[in-house]
Amino acid sequence: MNSKEIPYKIYLSENELPTSWYNVRADMKKKPAPLLNPVTHKPMTFDDLRPVFCDELVKQELNETDAFIQIPDEIREFYKMYRPAPLVRAYCLEKKLNTPAKIYYKFEGNNTSGSHKLNSAIAQAYYAKQQGLKGVTTETGAGQWGTALSMACSYFDLDCHVYMVKCSYEQKPFRREVMRTYGASVTPSPSDTTEVGRKILQEFPGTSGSLGCAISEAVEAATKHEGYRYVLGSVLNQVLLHQTVIGLETMTAMDKYGIKPDVIIGCAGGGSNLGGLIAPFMGRKLRGEADYQFIAVEPASCPSLTRGKFVYDYCDTGHVCPLSKMYTLGSEFIPSANHAGGLRYHGMNSVLSQLYDDKLLEARTVEQTAVFKAAQDFARVEGILPAPESSHAIKVAIDEALKCKETGEEKTILFGLTGTGYFDMYAYKAFNDGTMSDYIPTEEDLQRGFNGIPRFDGNNI
Ligand SMILES: *Cc1c(COP(=O)(O)O)cnc(C)c1O
Repeated sequence: MNSKEIPYKIYLSENELPTSWYNVRADMKKKPAPLLNPVTHKPMTFDDLRPVFCDELVKQELNETDAFIQIPDEIREFYKMYRPAPLVRAYCLEKKLNTPAKIYYKFEGNNTSGSHKLNSAIAQAYYAKQQGLKGVTTETGAGQWGTALSMACSYFDLDCHVYMVKCSYEQKPFRREVMRTYGASVTPSPSDTTEVGRKILQEFPGTSGSLGCAISEAVEAATKHEGYRYVLGSVLNQVLLHQTVIGLETMTAMDKYGIKPDVIIGCAGGGSNLGGLIAPFMGRKLRGEADYQFIAVEPASCPSLTRGKFVYDYCDTGHVCPLSKMYTLGSEFIPSANHAGGLRYHGMNSVLSQLYDDKLLEARTVEQTAVFKAAQDFARVEGILPAPESSHAIKVAIDEALKCKETGEEKTILFGLTGTGYFDMYAYKAFNDGTMSDYIPTEEDLQRGFNGIPRFDGNNI
C-alpha cells in the first residue's frame, strides 16, 4: 500500500477493541523466574499472595500458560470511554527530520490520568469490587498512577488510599487535587501513619521519600485493614498483561493497513507500557512468525537494564513485598532527582528482564536534557506536549529516524507515546531556563545500591 493512503490517525472502531489480554509468558520458552518469599526464599503460592493482592489478580500474576485472558465486559465498557487509542503517523515529525523513515506512535494520553495507567487501574479496581472488598491502597510517584486509580475506584465506588512520594506531593499539588476530586485520600510518604513510615522517618529525618518507601507503606496499610488490598501500577506481570491492550490495538491497526514495524520503542520505568506495547509483536517473534527490533529506553540516571544486575531483589525499600528476579540497581538505590518520576524505579518487570537477558530485547539510556530537547521538537510539530517519561521513547525514535536519513533506509519505526506532560511544567521550566542537569551515577553509587541486594544460596550477585 502506498504510504500516502495512510491517514494521520488510524482509529479502530469500538468493536475492534480487544476481547482478551495477551499473556506473552505462554509463548516464552524460558519463563521468568517465580516470585520468592523474602524470608523462606520459597516460591510464592496463591495462598501466600492472597493477603496482599486481590484473588483474581494473583491468578493472573501466577498464570504462565494461558496465552489469552478474557477482558470482562465491565472493563471493556469502561475502555470504550477512551479507547481504542489512536495510532498516529507522525508525518509532520518525519518532514521536520527530513527522514525516509516512517514513524508511528500509539497515543495513550487521551484520558484524565494523562497516561496508559488507567488501562490497568480499571482492571484492578474491577477485580477488587468483584471480590467484595471495601477499598485499595497504593503508592504514586509522579502521580499518574494515583490519578488513574482514583478514577477507577470512583467508577466502581471503592475506597482509594494513595501514598504519594513526598517530593511529588509538594511539587505537584494539582495532581493531588485531581485525586481528591475523584474521592481518593492522599498521604505524603513517608508518613507517621504506618510502622514502616515511622521507621524510615526516624532513620532518615527530612527525607523527600521514594517509590520503594511509599510501596512499603501502602502494603502495610492494606494488610492491616480488613477488606483492603494493595494494588500496584507497574512492575508486576498482571499490570503488563492489562497493558497489552495497547499492543493488541496497535497490531490490529497496523495489520489492517499492511504496515510492519521494523523497530518498536518504549520507555521503561517498571516496564508495563513497553511490555504491553511489544507483547503481541514479541509473541510473533517467539513463535517464529515475524522479526522485530525492540528497544527499551531508560534514563541514564536510573539504568536498571543497562547497568543493573539480573538477580533476586526486593521490590520495595521496606522489604515487605516478595522477591523478584529482575534487572535491578538494588532497592536502596536512590536515583538522582530526575524529572521523569515514572522512570525512577530501581528494578524492572521480570518478563522484560528475562527477554532482555535472552537478547530478545535491547536497551538504551538517554540523558534528560537530550530527552527534553526531543520533547520540545516533537511538541512543536506534532502538537502534543509529551510526558517526560514518554519523551525518552521519542528521543530514541528520533535518533533511529536520523540514522535512516544517513543510510537512506526506509524503516518503519513505532513508539509508545504514554502520556501528556501538563503536570510536569517545573521540569519543562528547568529545561527552558537552561538549569536542567544530567546526572549519571558513578560505579560507587551503583555499588552502594548493589550492597543492598539480598545474599542467599542461588542468588549470584
Ligand atoms: C508510569 C509511567 C511510565 C512508566 O511506567 P511503565 O510501567 O514502565 O510503563 C511511562 N510513561 C508515563 C506517562 C507514565 O505515567
